[in-house]
Amino acid sequence: MTDPITARRGLMLVLTSPSGAGKSTLTRELLKTETEIALSVSVTTRPRRQDEIDHVHYHFIDKSRFGQMRDAGELLEWAEVHGNFYGTPRQAVEDALSAGKDVLFDIDVAGVRQLSELVREDMATVFLLPPSVAEQISRLKRRATDEDKAILRRLTTARDEIAHWRDFDYILVNDDLERAFSSLRAILAAERLKQNRRPKIEALIAELDRDLEKVLAA
Ligand code: 5GP
Repeated sequence: MTDPITARRGLMLVLTSPSGAGKSTLTRELLKTETEIALSVSVTTRPRRQDEIDHVHYHFIDKSRFGQMRDAGELLEWAEVHGNFYGTPRQAVEDALSAGKDVLFDIDVAGVRQLSELVREDMATVFLLPPSVAEQISRLKRRATDEDKAILRRLTTARDEIAHWRDFDYILVNDDLERAFSSLRAILAAERLKQNRRPKIEALIAELDRDLEKVLAA
């Protein structure tokens, strides 16, 4: 039996950032270091990149399958990003949370808004910002796959995403990767300790009351 004090509800940790702020590195490091949190693997219609593994980084599916899943209510949230569709499969998240496991989400601003409307109390949202737009441009330029036009498109999207910064619980500026990483871990640690994730404590008090009554009646 689980100890009622240690039992807690799973937490949804949402990490969002404009492209080029270092989110993939932080996500990878967090999953490597923290064993009690798993990535919510999204479905996407985007073609797989060379370094990506199907069902690990994404479930790669075609547009018609995506449409089926969305229409059948199998996606918790979804969005179109740069002409491709992305969505969070509902079942895997619900299973993890009810088993008391934490789930990490790497989704965009539109997805965060949809999730907030559904399950706000289980979520902690972090917005990761690049230290400056100049730095962001140089990071984007270092990516061999990006053409100039694509860079401009990503920057325009980034600008529009940054405008939603107030929707987030935490703002993390990635001016130093190590510092940003330890801040992210601190956020996770603090969020895990929040009182609303301990629904079993009321049950424990009730149990203690029953025990006390028995003792007093004896
Ligand atoms: P990429 O194609 O570079 O992997 O991701 C592009 C953008 O889509 C990123 O901002 C990423 O956070 C977002 N994204 C990935 N999966 C999902 C998802 O399931 N839902 C939403 N709303 N956005 C996603």
